[in-house]
Amino acid sequence: MTDYCNTPSLPSLEQALEQILDDLPKPNGYQRLGLKKALQRIVYQDIHAAIDLPSFRNSAMDGYAFQHHSDQDLALIVIGCSWAGKPYRGEVLAGECIRVFTGAYVPDSCDCVVMQENTRRTNESIRLTHWPKRFENIRSIGSDIQQGQRLLAQGHRLKAADIGLLAACGIADIAVFNPITVGFFSTGDELISIGSQPELGQIYDSNRYTIHALLEEAGIKPLDMGVIADTPEAVEAALLSATKHCDLIITSGGVSVGEADFMSDVLAKIGQIKLWKMAIKPGKPLLFASINNSVFFGLPGNPVSVMVTFQQIVLPALHKMMGLTTDQPALTLPAIAAEDIDKQPGRLEFQRGVARKTGDELSVSLTGGQASHMLSSMSQANCLIILPRENTGVKKGQSVNIQLLDKHL
Ligand code: AMP
Ligand code: MG
Repeated sequence: MTDYCNTPSLPSLEQALEQILDDLPKPNGYQRLGLKKALQRIVYQDIHAAIDLPSFRNSAMDGYAFQHHSDQDLALIVIGCSWAGKPYRGEVLAGECIRVFTGAYVPDSCDCVVMQENTRRTNESIRLTHWPKRFENIRSIGSDIQQGQRLLAQGHRLKAADIGLLAACGIADIAVFNPITVGFFSTGDELISIGSQPELGQIYDSNRYTIHALLEEAGIKPLDMGVIADTPEAVEAALLSATKHCDLIITSGGVSVGEADFMSDVLAKIGQIKLWKMAIKPGKPLLFASINNSVFFGLPGNPVSVMVTFQQIVLPALHKMMGLTTDQPALTLPAIAAEDIDKQPGRLEFQRGVARKTGDELSVSLTGGQASHMLSSMSQANCLIILPRENTGVKKGQSVNIQLLDKHL
């Protein structure tokens, strides 16, 4: 276990993440799924195309196909029609043309297509108002995908376009890594379920809902194990039971150093603590361990800490366990601070912000209070403002790095 007692010696996020990722078990096995079931799953092995795409020459436009060297002064005689799905199989000579529609077969004897808008038709012939270039508007065989080409690499997460690509190549099912089982529970005697009336000192358990949503966003169907009482015995029993069917266990609460924070004691007893605490804010007390064959993440209880540690640490770990190898570090963008931002040196800080496009630049303002219990700050935010460990605050007008939380500003 790496034990860091005082803040200067706490590992950075990068160090912690590297250590955690190195320590994770490999994804186990695969299953074959029909395309409609495979969205968001991770490709088990490289997939190659068995056919060319397009597999026949076809038209990119509704128009007319003909021989490019036909006499430009004469009208082209329309001798037939090639429909999408109903090809024209005859030969087209110089001075002749055929009507073609988008996606329709273009015979080898034609080497260009003029778009309909550039023609004037009179009965059985056309005149062109604009002569196309040779090969214009013809989609050649294999211009999208060539037979034998790698379509998707192992470790790639299937998105809608990939599913379509596989279908276009006639592939009906695909080997994907087995899903991982993730169980989670909350700890805290103050927590009550939605529907009950809180008494003084009680709060609704929001973390379980947040974690459930975060896992679903990650493409995982999680196992909600409820709220576990704040006793070492109850937590130990819940963890041991979870190890029977979970590859990964996530808890919230009880990882700090208060009297009711005994996750580390329990983990030291029944598992192996690999890392505890890192120099980030919020989320410093994150606990990473293993119990039997399960991976364990103990997230702090504060709702914002839950979200930040999940996004920065748990998500990359989940991805690796799921077999995803094309994971990139979260994209950061520069933005101009629209207000002063306070910060103490010592920890990498994630403050919640609202980024806006101002002309060609992004500007960012805080969502208000930044305390780690303020889930509203996370709900209003569309980005996290990343303030490096030794940063001592930012003045209005200075540039900061942000990570977008929403695709749309
Ligand atoms: P802890 O890490 O257990 O000391 O909890 C830190 C703070 O987070 C306390 O104010 C808790 O009441 C709060 N908290 C812990 N668990 C949850 C939860 N599941 N939902 C909402 N707040 C929580
Ligand atoms: Mg607690």
